[in-house]
Amino acid sequence: MILQPRIRGFVCVTAHPEGCAENVREQIALVRSRGEIPGGPKNVLVIGASTGYGLATRIAAAFGSGAKSVGVAYERPGTPDHCASAGWYNNAAFHREARKAGIGAWSVNGDAFSAKVKEETLALVKANLGKLDFVAYSLASPRRTDPQGKTWKSCLKPIGQAFEAKHLDTDRHQVVTVHVDPATEEEIEGTVKVMGGEDFELWVKALAEADLLAPGAKVVAYDYIGAEVTFPIYHDGTIGMAKKHLYATAARLNAALAPKASVFLSVNKAVVTQASSAIPAVPLYISILFRVMKEKGLHEGCIEQMDRFFREKLAGKTPIMDAEGRVRLDDWEMRPEVQEVATRLWKEIETETLRQQSDYNGYEEEFLRLFGFGFTNVDYSKDVATDIPFEG
Ligand code: NAD
Repeated sequence: MILQPRIRGFVCVTAHPEGCAENVREQIALVRSRGEIPGGPKNVLVIGASTGYGLATRIAAAFGSGAKSVGVAYERPGTPDHCASAGWYNNAAFHREARKAGIGAWSVNGDAFSAKVKEETLALVKANLGKLDFVAYSLASPRRTDPQGKTWKSCLKPIGQAFEAKHLDTDRHQVVTVHVDPATEEEIEGTVKVMGGEDFELWVKALAEADLLAPGAKVVAYDYIGAEVTFPIYHDGTIGMAKKHLYATAARLNAALAPKASVFLSVNKAVVTQASSAIPAVPLYISILFRVMKEKGLHEGCIEQMDRFFREKLAGKTPIMDAEGRVRLDDWEMRPEVQEVATRLWKEIETETLRQQSDYNGYEEEFLRLFGFGFTNVDYSKDVATDIPFEG
């Protein structure tokens, strides 16, 4: 097939296998350019491993410290006349590169919330990795079917009162006003069921019961706090409520497993991913943030974040954490000098100044790259095979 981007709102419905492979290779090259990660992980499980933070975690561990890994994702395969999802192609490319480098990699494609996928994953870990020294939980999902068979939906809504704020209309390239009504009790509960700690706990308990956590193992789930302008829709909204539940769950699991293993959250910075592009107001905030952080030489994407996570935050015997026991990879984003400028630009920005007052160009580029488009060394006029195997 000849594949071009087909964007529908905040998703691109096409993905390019060679472009996705290029994206994976660039991430690998970045990690390699920084040299080996001293004391980095060796046996890794990543749940949500095919895109965004999970993919970057797997790449940083595999190519930074030679970690063998099992990755879990839920991606759509391709057929001869229909392309697969970007995460499918990313996973295939990760496997090809790992194979070339002689690094062990195994993957499961299926619903991580299900007991079946948990069992399959644990069997793969047992057979190929043995005890894990690092586990990352990096799921971002709109729904979850729980062990009782009930399906819950998550949503991105404020709690208590409506949210009205600036927002980016990426179809029209305009700064508009978004209005989101407050969530109902049912929507809050649903979001906590999907994105809170319940499933994380099932994974951690299953791994501990199967004796698959090595002494000193680190188990991390990802969180976001962000700027005050996004608080009503994120930190204080339905997703923030779910993250608070995730935090409380991690703290409880940490207490139960200590000193054998530590369970904690890492608060990561705002980056362009399929998940973040769906949040009202966040793409505009990210475009502004990118401009400010690039100007100050502080810009990072998923791979720079995860590389710094292993290299800096996890380098010592115990991870570097804040007073609440969380790793803060958003430390550069939250610097006062970054937030002050971002807040000012947020107030001032309008459609007419969008490309000057923010790095919307950079945002658009990164968005396309998520789906394998916009790489100068990929020939997009060429016919490519779309039905490649998940493990490359
Ligand atoms: P993403 O959409 O890029 O990745 C989600 C991953 O989850 C994919 O690998 C996908 O295949 C997998 N997945 C989704 N549903 C699944 C299911 N049912 N079974 C198996 N796999 C499934 O998302 P992301 O932005 O990288 O988010 C990952 C985590 O990082 C989330 O917890 C998010 O809150 C957090 N985070 C994101 C940002 C950001 O700006 N994007 C910032 C801080 C923290």
